[in-house]
Amino acid sequence: MTISKQPSFTTIAIDGGAATGKSSTARGLAARLCYLHVDTGSHYRALTLLCQRHGFAPDDVEGIQNLLANNPLGTEVDLAACDAKITVDGSVPADSDLRSDAVNASVSKYAAQPAVREALKEYQRGQKAVAIAKGFGGLVMEGRDIGSVIFPDAELKIFLEADEATRAARRAKDGQTDAIAERDRMDSTRKTAPLTCPKGAVRVDNSRMSLAEVIEHIAAMVKQ
Ligand code: C5P
Repeated sequence: MTISKQPSFTTIAIDGGAATGKSSTARGLAARLCYLHVDTGSHYRALTLLCQRHGFAPDDVEGIQNLLANNPLGTEVDLAACDAKITVDGSVPADSDLRSDAVNASVSKYAAQPAVREALKEYQRGQKAVAIAKGFGGLVMEGRDIGSVIFPDAELKIFLEADEATRAARRAKDGQTDAIAERDRMDSTRKTAPLTCPKGAVRVDNSRMSLAEVIEHIAAMVKQ
């Protein structure tokens, strides 16, 4: 009898607060390793946009559940960019809509809603199957609860940190209005899946590091 060896698949969870450089780091690391990049912040932003367009407030549990029952979520993979984007009602929302001031101001309220988190938990865990089906050797998923809730068994967990001045400067450079401290406060004090440094995660403070250095540093951990 021959036992076929399963090709190995690596899951990397990157968590951290607002403007800690998660997206640039996760995207760069995924491209470097040819793994699929998944930005779960964009999932919460897409659902916020959907709810706002339909006029459902964050506490309208029934309305949100009805909306989600229609199965509005899908995935579009850009193979060349090693990137997976969420689709809502069949299309990828524009980045300018996902990062608008209105979404920045209320995304944490929708993200605190257990019905929203439950729907996205299932969707996010399903991204591993998407990555395998598309031939990627791994997944780099970034967010607030990836190492703690979505993939607690990830092969590598990173918790990114940066000092307040660095984070504010990054947002200002992007020309965005974003209440970083307020979002972090809401995200880390909510009852369901709060932002926290997951058990077994390696803390990386990137305040004094360039993006290339951070990616190098994490890629070296993956090699080990
Ligand atoms: O990462 P980003 O700043 O785009 O995330 C937007 C918001 O989505 C966060 O402030 C948080 O409220 C929510 N979020 C979350 N869990 C994740 C990713 C994002 O609650 N895994």
